[in-house]
Amino acid sequence: MTAIDTAIRAAAADIELMGVTKAYDVRTVVIPPLDVALRPGEFTVVLGPSGCGKSTLLQMIAGLERVSGGKIVIGGREVQDLEPKHRGCAMVFQNYALYPHMTVAENMAYSLKVAGVSKTERAERVADVARMLGLADFLARKPGQLSGGQRQRVAIGRAIIREPGVLLFDEPLSNLDAQLRHDMRVELADLHRRIGATSVFVTHDQVEAMTLADRILILNKGRIEQFDTPKAIYHRPASVFVAKFIGAPPMNVLTVTGDGSALRLADGQVVGNYEGKGSFQLGIRPEDITVNAGGAIKAAIRYREDLGSHEILEADVAGQQLRISTPFGAEIDAAATLSLSFPQARLHLFDGETGRAIPNAFHNADAVRRSVKEYQ
Ligand code: ADP
Repeated sequence: MTAIDTAIRAAAADIELMGVTKAYDVRTVVIPPLDVALRPGEFTVVLGPSGCGKSTLLQMIAGLERVSGGKIVIGGREVQDLEPKHRGCAMVFQNYALYPHMTVAENMAYSLKVAGVSKTERAERVADVARMLGLADFLARKPGQLSGGQRQRVAIGRAIIREPGVLLFDEPLSNLDAQLRHDMRVELADLHRRIGATSVFVTHDQVEAMTLADRILILNKGRIEQFDTPKAIYHRPASVFVAKFIGAPPMNVLTVTGDGSALRLADGQVVGNYEGKGSFQLGIRPEDITVNAGGAIKAAIRYREDLGSHEILEADVAGQQLRISTPFGAEIDAAATLSLSFPQARLHLFDGETGRAIPNAFHNADAVRRSVKEYQ
């Protein structure tokens, strides 16, 4: 028998959604027509705020929810009208969905039993998966005798034992405490490296998205805001929505006016140089702002939060809120007016109306080529 990791790598399918839509009724269009292609073996994280349609999208791929229109193609087969069990997908749920009266081994082997796989092969595959997930010592236990993390591993084992072409995860870590979430993230990333399954992972947690994904698909009201690598999403957000969704604290976005050579705040302070005229939104990450190094931008501190390794300053600049992340040990006089500078290479410019990014507004061609290369 082939080892399970080799079998899963071989089974990894591509997924293509073509004009897929979901509407519960004429007024509740949850997903307007959506097109996206996921590569075989790719780990895609679907990220977005609650209610943006992440679970609906995942369930349409799994077959637990019908599409209202469009096609879903998995491994070259049109599947949107097929039963879930015929789609070659396995799903890991948030609540584990384990059978409480069955042992770990029985839980993991159950789908194979239903599929008529022989007892010998079932035992081999259970042993293989248990070894892979560190569950070998727990095979005789019932789910009630396991920790949350172990239960989640059993749920993952139960999914991968069928050697699926696609693994679907619906917020699988949200029931775990912070430390365990971290440990499971590391385990999942490691597992993915070993088995290379095509994976679609739904979460509202940006850290999970940044650390697990090959590419992150950011959804806003059922529409794709951006679909790109974590680095590109962080360094080149395609819209104000993405910019404000990623980062802790997220990117500052200020309303500015362009006079043809400079971008100005409402009080006339210049915050960047740009040849455009009109209203824009200017983004800068809290960690990219330089404090008190002869900067010309004046801001008043409203609040400071000391997090040990660094401090977050909340400041007011021309009536708009600004968050600044300063390194441990930075000398900041809370009573004084802050003198800030915004390094031009760290600025992001967005259209004042649509909120879409204006690419390369502040970069020369060389820097752009370098950064594109770096983030590919
Ligand atoms: P997410 O997973 O991003 O939190 P969901 O996919 O669960 O979002 O839901 C997307 C939207 O679809 C929400 O506004 C939700 O209220 C709506 N929705 C989900 N299921 C139904 C349903 N059965 N009937 C009507 N609306 C629904």
